[in-house]
Amino acid sequence: MQYPAWEDLELGAAITTPGNASNLKTGDWRSSVPVLDEDKCVKCGLCAVYCPEFCIAEDEEGFYRPDLYYCKGCGICAVECPKEAIKMQREGE
Ligand code: SF4
Ligand code: SF4
Repeated sequence: MQYPAWEDLELGAAITTPGNASNLKTGDWRSSVPVLDEDKCVKCGLCAVYCPEFCIAEDEEGFYRPDLYYCKGCGICAVECPKEAIKMQREGE
């Protein structure tokens, strides 16, 4: 996976006050996005446990999907998935 160099990232800042984190669209910071392979996923939920943003939730079918409004594209879910069911893909591809 190819990540942009830090010099190539756009400048940005988040102004926070206590308790307002849920109002921030932190998904805008993302340069790659987790993509789920439903054929490999065993619905164990480990990706949700490890996600540092707590933005992965179970859907009606039992699959665990990230809320891309908050997902920062860190890739931890892809690393921790025991079935390699999550691949990180460059944003916009
Ligand atoms: S950790 Fe992997 S196998 Fe388990 S629910 Fe998440 S994507 Fe599916
Ligand atoms: S890429 Fe990071 S922030 Fe996004 S769902 Fe996976 S663990 Fe959570």
